[in-house]
Amino acid sequence: MTKQKLLSKIPSVDELVKNPRGEKWLKRHPRRTVLKAIRTVLDAKRKEILKQGLAGELPIDQISSDIGKEISRLAAYRLKPLINASGVVIHTNLGRAVLSDKAKENMLHVAGSYSNLEYELSQGKRGKRYSHIKDIIKELSGAEDALVVNNNAAAVLICLNTFAKDMEVIVSRGELVEIGGSFRIPEIMESSGAILREVGTTNKTHLSDYENAVSGNIALLLKVHQSNYKLLGFTEEVSIKELVKLGRTYMIPVMTDLGSGCMIDLRQYGIYDEPAVQDVVRSGADIVTFSGDKLLGGPQCGIILGKKKFIQKVQENPLLRAVRVDKLTLAALEATFMQYLDEERACKEIPTLNMLTQPLENIKRRARRISSALKKGISGLADVAVISDRSRAGGGSLPEADFPTFVVSIRPHKISLNALERKLRNTDPPVIARIKDDALLVDARTLRDREVRTLVNCIISALS
Ligand SMILES: *Cc1c(COP(=O)(O)O)cnc(C)c1O
Repeated sequence: MTKQKLLSKIPSVDELVKNPRGEKWLKRHPRRTVLKAIRTVLDAKRKEILKQGLAGELPIDQISSDIGKEISRLAAYRLKPLINASGVVIHTNLGRAVLSDKAKENMLHVAGSYSNLEYELSQGKRGKRYSHIKDIIKELSGAEDALVVNNNAAAVLICLNTFAKDMEVIVSRGELVEIGGSFRIPEIMESSGAILREVGTTNKTHLSDYENAVSGNIALLLKVHQSNYKLLGFTEEVSIKELVKLGRTYMIPVMTDLGSGCMIDLRQYGIYDEPAVQDVVRSGADIVTFSGDKLLGGPQCGIILGKKKFIQKVQENPLLRAVRVDKLTLAALEATFMQYLDEERACKEIPTLNMLTQPLENIKRRARRISSALKKGISGLADVAVISDRSRAGGGSLPEADFPTFVVSIRPHKISLNALERKLRNTDPPVIARIKDDALLVDARTLRDREVRTLVNCIISALS
C-alpha cells in the first residue's frame, strides 16, 4: 500500500473515541488524557509511515492497543514504590526510610481529617504544632527541649542563623563534609550568614586548635558527624565532651550535627559504634541536630534538641516559618518515636532498624526462598545461586561499615547483565539491584518477606 493510502486510512481522533473501546477509556480516564494518548499514538504512526512505509495493512487493532497502553502510562503516578534489592538500607535516591506500619496508619489517620495541629484542646485556643512531639522526644533523648523542622539541612541552617549570624563558628577541617552532593557544611554556613572559622587539618584536629581560635567574635563551636566518609589511620578529633568543656570555659555554646541520629545503641547488634543521641545529649552539647529519615527510620524531617533557652531562641527565628514541618510528618514522627519506648519492638517494627538488626539467618532464609522460587520459574534462562556478600547502611550513616549479607546471584544466559539490570528497573514495580563481577546481585537484607513473591515475578518477566 502506498504511503498516501496508508495515511488516509488512519482513523480520526473522533472515530477512535466514538467506538465501544473509546467509550470505555473515557469512562475510566479524564478526556484530556484519552485525547493526548490518541494523538501521541497517531502521530507516531504517521511519522513511521512517512519514514519507512508499512508492510501490509494499517494495523488498527495494534493502534488501539497502543493507545490503551499510552493511557495507562499517562494515568500512572510518576512517583511510585519500588523494590530495593540493592542492600543499601538508607538509600537517599530510593526515598530513605521506609515508614513503619504504625507511622503510616497515624499519618493516614491525621491526613483525612481536621486535627488539633495548632489548637490547644484543654484551653480552647491557639496552640503550637511543635508541642505534640516535644514530650516524647524529651523523654527518649533526655534533652530539655526539642523542635522539629523540614529536614536536617534546615535544622542546621536555622540553628546557625539563630546563634551565629554575622559571627564566627569554629569547625574542624576534618568535618567540612559534603553530603549527597547538595549539602556542604561551608555552603550551608554561608547561607545562614555565619562565618566559617576552620581549624586543624583534614586528618588531625586538637583541642588546642579550637582553643587558639577562640576570640570575642566566636558564637558557636560546631561538631559535624563525618557521615559518609571515615578517616582511617593517623587521625585525631576532639570529642564532644572535650568541646563542651571548652565551650563552658569560654561561655560559647556547642552544637553538634549528628546527621543520622541513632536512638538505640547499635553496638549490641554487633554493628557499629554510631553515637547514640542520648549519649550526645548527656555529654552536655547545647544543641543537637539529626535527620528523621536516616537511622531513626521515620519521615523526612530535622530534629533539634537542646537546652530550653536555645530551643526558645530558634523558635523565635522568623526562618522557622519557612522550614515548618508538615502535619503528616508530625503524625508519622510521633508514631515512630512512640515505638522507641520499647526498643526490642522498635527493632522489629521499624523497617530501617529491622533491616539493620535482623539476624543473618533470616536474610539467608529469604535469599533461599527467592532463589528456589526463581529456579522453578526460569528453567535454563539463568544460573541462580545464594552467596554471601556485604551490604551497606548508606544515607550518610555508619561510614565504611558494611555488614555480612546474603544475596541471590543471577547470571542470565540469553541477555546481557546490563540488559537484565535495565529491564528490572522497568518492571512493575521496578526492582533496583546491583551488578558485581559477572552477576546481578539481589540483596535479601533490604527486602521484606511480603515482597518476595512480587520480586520473583519481576525477575522472571525480565529474564523471559
Ligand atoms: C544527612 C546529613 C545532613 C542532611 O540531612 P537531611 O535530613 O538530608 O537534610 C546534614 N548533616 C549531616 C552530618 C548528615 O549526615
